[in-house]
Amino acid sequence: MTTLTDYTVASVSSEVPMSSIAREMRNEFADAAWQERHAVTRVDQLCEWMGGNADGSLMRDIELGLARAPMAMRITPYVLNLIDWSNFLQDPIRKQFIPVGSEILPSHPLLKMDSLHERESSPVDGLVHRYQDKALLLATDRCPVYCRFCTRSYSVGLDTSSVSKKRPPPFQSRWDTILAYLRATPVIVDVVVSGGDCFRLKPSRLLAVGMTLLSIPSIRRVRFATKGLAVLPMKVTSDHEWTDALVKISDAGRNQGVEISFHTHFNHPGEITDYTIAAAELLFKRGIRMRNQSVLMAGVNDDPEVMKQLVKKLSDLHIQPYYVYTCDPVAGIEHMRCSVKQACQIEKAVRGITAGYNTPLFIVDTPGGGGKRDVHSFEHYDSQAGIAVYRAPSVRPDQLFIYPDPLQSLSSDAQAAWLDPQRANHILSDAVEAAREKSMAV
Ligand code: SF4
Repeated sequence: MTTLTDYTVASVSSEVPMSSIAREMRNEFADAAWQERHAVTRVDQLCEWMGGNADGSLMRDIELGLARAPMAMRITPYVLNLIDWSNFLQDPIRKQFIPVGSEILPSHPLLKMDSLHERESSPVDGLVHRYQDKALLLATDRCPVYCRFCTRSYSVGLDTSSVSKKRPPPFQSRWDTILAYLRATPVIVDVVVSGGDCFRLKPSRLLAVGMTLLSIPSIRRVRFATKGLAVLPMKVTSDHEWTDALVKISDAGRNQGVEISFHTHFNHPGEITDYTIAAAELLFKRGIRMRNQSVLMAGVNDDPEVMKQLVKKLSDLHIQPYYVYTCDPVAGIEHMRCSVKQACQIEKAVRGITAGYNTPLFIVDTPGGGGKRDVHSFEHYDSQAGIAVYRAPSVRPDQLFIYPDPLQSLSSDAQAAWLDPQRANHILSDAVEAAREKSMAV
């Protein structure tokens, strides 16, 4: 088995000309198929990668973490190489992909598996239709890596000890029904292809999905959402068939006046390397429009300086930093969540450092299916009790939506209140009442 010391990934350096970067890339490591074949999915493989850093108690801690985590483990060697193993527990890349039992906190009582109620908003298997003119197409349940904090922990990846995944039927068997729904619902003009991750789609499947969506006259925009560029950028530079398929869809879309875009998922500036630069440059040169969606996470990017660096680096790669989401309140990831107050503070620090169009909107994707709301747009927020209340007039006008701050951000009394069902109900009803009063006062 290859070990960590066999490869090094050069850190980002805009002074290095691309041709020399390309020359320095070692063929094997720069090959996406090799990365996929060597993805680490078990603790014993991880142990081998860690070599001298594999401490027995740490391995037991990781095993404990995996037993309690909602996501299975899958990490590319490229990502393993980005981790600072001498600072394993604090490393922001590690925190996204490798759970350790000792850091997992009890979930907030409002946390759920399908916190956004996606299945309730699915008229047909594998298609979420919540906003009037937009639909989310779940094209696969596989990803090049599995993220600890995945919104779709209820369905993506392999089963874990704590979660049996609710997978939609195989894509081929539901594709015709999805297409029939899209054709019969011309109000949908915007389709997000996600999953899972389109990096795991074969080129032929990617092309078929993109071209078929382009054949539906009512669809004006198609977005391919992927974590791939952050965790397997060599896919773009080495899997030519896949990249050609993406470019073909993009060119065809442009020719018929339909926007095709590529939505990336970088959370930390340390995820941007020379491999990323090469891949992003190639996509930019071939006319692919790129935007980034980050997730705000404790110990990963909940620091204004880290977020500023991320925004700047993405902008330099012509990847528009578009959204920063607060972590969806998914069961099993309480320790990774940040409060609404923290999100507002970081947003204020980031706004103004660069052009407005490269300044991300900070978003709460409201639990319960209200959709995305600007983090500042709450009707009511009580940072002492740790509860924010949002309205979503164009999605579900009669409903209020609650986002709970993480328990660890609250005083011990407020934490105790949430854990007492009667007191928790009081917090909820007081907050809803205050939100209603404020809405009426406007
Ligand atoms: S790549 Fe996306 S869909 Fe896959 S595990 Fe990560 S967040 Fe979830």
